[in-house]
This record gives sequence, C-alpha cells and structure tokens, in this order.
Amino acid sequence: MTPQAIELLLTHALIVTQDAARRVLPDSALAVQNGRILALGPTAELCARFAAAEAIDLSGKIIFPGLVNTHTHLFQVATKGLGEDMAVQDWVEVVTGPTAIHITPEEMNLFCLSGCLEMIHGGVTTVVDMSYRAHTFALHEQNILAMQQSGLRGRYTSIISDFGVDYGVAPQLIMPIEWFIDQYGRLLDRYPPDDRLAVWVAIGAPWTISDEGMAGALEFSLRTSTPMVMHINENGVDNYLSQQRHAKNIVPYLDEIGFLRPDLLAIHCVVTNDEDIELYRRHDVKISYNPVSNMYLGSGIAPMVKMARAGLTIGLGVDGAGSNNSQDMIETLKMAALVQKAAAGDASVVDAQTVLDWATLGGARALRLEDNIGSLEPGKCADLFVVAPNSARIVPIHDPVASLVYSGGVENVVLTMANGKVLMREGVIQHFDEAEILCRCQEAALALAQRCGSNRKVRRSWKGSAA
Ligand SMILES: [Zn+2]
Repeated sequence: MTPQAIELLLTHALIVTQDAARRVLPDSALAVQNGRILALGPTAELCARFAAAEAIDLSGKIIFPGLVNTHTHLFQVATKGLGEDMAVQDWVEVVTGPTAIHITPEEMNLFCLSGCLEMIHGGVTTVVDMSYRAHTFALHEQNILAMQQSGLRGRYTSIISDFGVDYGVAPQLIMPIEWFIDQYGRLLDRYPPDDRLAVWVAIGAPWTISDEGMAGALEFSLRTSTPMVMHINENGVDNYLSQQRHAKNIVPYLDEIGFLRPDLLAIHCVVTNDEDIELYRRHDVKISYNPVSNMYLGSGIAPMVKMARAGLTIGLGVDGAGSNNSQDMIETLKMAALVQKAAAGDASVVDAQTVLDWATLGGARALRLEDNIGSLEPGKCADLFVVAPNSARIVPIHDPVASLVYSGGVENVVLTMANGKVLMREGVIQHFDEAEILCRCQEAALALAQRCGSNRKVRRSWKGSAA
C-alpha cells in the first residue's frame, strides 16, 4: 500500500493524550494534516502509513496538548513590576487604568505580541484576552492583530464599564452602555467568530457597571449569542458593594437578573460560598482559576477543590502581567496545585493530573471548544507542546505529568504548535525576530510608564543602556 502524503509527522515521542482514559503512549507518532491531528499511534505503524513532507524526531521527549490560558490582559505586559503592594482597586487606579488610557495602537500591538510570544514559550496555544476600554477602534484592531500574528487561538474581549468612579475606575475608561454596544457590534461585524478567533463580551467587575449597563450587555450577548466573561468575587468588594446596592451577595443577584448561564466565564471566584457554588453548578457557569494573580494582589485562595468536587468546569489562567508579572502557564500549573494543598493542610486534595486537566480539557470546555482542543485525538486541532529533559530543573522524569506540573519550566518547552503550525522550536520563535520585539517592548514600556505616571511608586528606576 502506498503511504499517504501528509504535511508533518512527529515521531518517537511519549504522548500524554489527555483523552478520556488519560492514556500515555510510549514511542508514538502524531500525524498532522490541514492543522488537525490525522492519526496518532505507534511510531513504526504511522511511519509505514504516512509519507510526511517533514518529520520531527522527538526521541526522549514528551508531547502534551496545548495549554489553554483562560484569562489574561495582554496589554498589561507594559506594567510588569509596577503593582507591588497594592490591592485590586488601588492597582487599577495607579497602574493599569493609566496605562490603558494612554496606550497607543502601535504600543498595543507590541505589548500584546510580546505577551503572546511569552505564552508560546510556555506551551500555551489558546488564550482569552480581556482588554480595557479602547479609546480608539485601532486599539481593538492592533490587539487582535497581535493575537492573529502570534498564531495562537484566541478569544478577544474589551471591558464594558459605565460606572465605578467612586471605586477607582478612571472616568476615561467609562462610557454609556450604548457606546460599548456599538463598539461590540462593529467588532462582531469585523471579526465574525471562528475556531481561531472570536470576540466575546467582557464586564470588568460588578462594581464597574450600572444595573442598566448590565442589562444592556446581557441583552446584547443573548441577542448575538456571544459568550461573556467577568471578574467575579476577586476579593470581598463585590459582595460588600452588592449588599449596599442590591441587599444581597453578588452571585445571588446575578442569578436573579438572569446573568448566570453556560455562556458565562467567571474569573477568579476567590470569595465563593456554598450557595454561590450551587448557583454556578445549576447554571453551568465556567470558572477561570488564576492562582498567581490572586496571591500577588493578596486577594485570597479560591475554593477550587470544592468547586471541582461540585462538578464545575474549571480552567486555568495567568491573568494580566500587571498582577502576575509574567505570562507563564507552566509556573501557574505548580502554583494552582500548591496553594490548594497549603490552604487545605492536605497534600492529597489536588494532584498533578487534575491540574493538567484544568489547563487543557477544562479550559477547552470553558471556551466551548472541547470538540477541537484540550486533548490529543484524531480529528482535533494540532495544538500541542513538547517537553524535553534538557535542564537540571526537570531531570529525572519519572511521571511526565508530575514532572511538568512540579518540575517544569519554560526552558523545558522545546516546541509549541497551534493549528498544525510550529510557532516555536528549540526555544526559537519561528515567525518573528523575538529579540527585536523585546528590545522595542522594553523601550516602549518605559516611555508609556513615564507618559502615564504608572511608575510613580517605583523606587529603583531602570536606566538601561541610557544610564
Ligand atoms: Zn483579570
């Protein structure tokens, strides 16, 4: 039988499939054609079946499904290290708000691209971005362009806010709800949803939107079948203000107004009680868990084990670089597990397999993309990354999943592929001059911080080569 011609064959790898049986396949190959996984199985068998235009020998290496980063704010790459010692509201007022107000479209593209490149190094193949209000439509365009240029699969959102000056939201970030609905109408026309990129609706937090704004955003979302994301209960402020405004906690209020539904991705959920969990479960609300950000801002520890045991769909996120200081999903895997163990005083409450499930299958379900991504199976998208035992940090590997979660670092990720396209190989980004982008990013971030004053609490300023 004549071998079938295909684009790419990855051979001799240990494949962590994340399929229903969580099979791990030794000395296996994965065939890629038209951006999808055509087949996977024993290397000898696939080498006989296929004649690949390119074959990559992955002997001694491990293939994982691409990680799904369910939450970030890409533009915040500009703000790394500026937010130390501030709670959420202060940090928005001092750091991220001024940055969003003064950022130019060119800077937006640069920071977003830099953030995407960092994620590619960390095995991420899908990302949900949450931009702030775009004071010019070109900001949307350049943000989305960076996501498209990066090669990642993406969901783009831009925060609706018509309220919240008293709580630290800058007036420049606030507009009437009609303005945001018009923006979203234009965005959906310009970027109709597909597997690679879709525009979703974002609300910053319950304290950044009026009741009328909430109703308008929900009506738009339902009318256009566009899923929504919102930070919910990142700390105690949401419940405190909801009690003042509506005489009940925020999640029961959201239930009352019909806001809770399967098309809602709730971000953080740090302050979550049993009633909230039951409401999320009843409405199949999806949850994004961002442990590094929650620790950095001192927000607390989300009860993810409880939520997982209730059957909720959980994805992992890094959150923006302003409250994480990197976009490192590999680090997030470890933190996601350790913080839950520490909180419970019990090492057995969550294991490495569960955390990897959150970062792959859970993220895929949270994005309604479970038929396409989240595991390595024939017919799904060729979204994956490869880990090598190439540093003292990860060697020796006994259990590939435990090693990735607890010993892995971005330096161990030696190949990242999204939609069948190799984006990074042997540490080298394939489609951009990364060094040049990082050099421009450094200069642009300093200039923007100076211009908008987001660096006013910095005590040891960077002078670089200009010093
Ligand atoms: Zn966030």
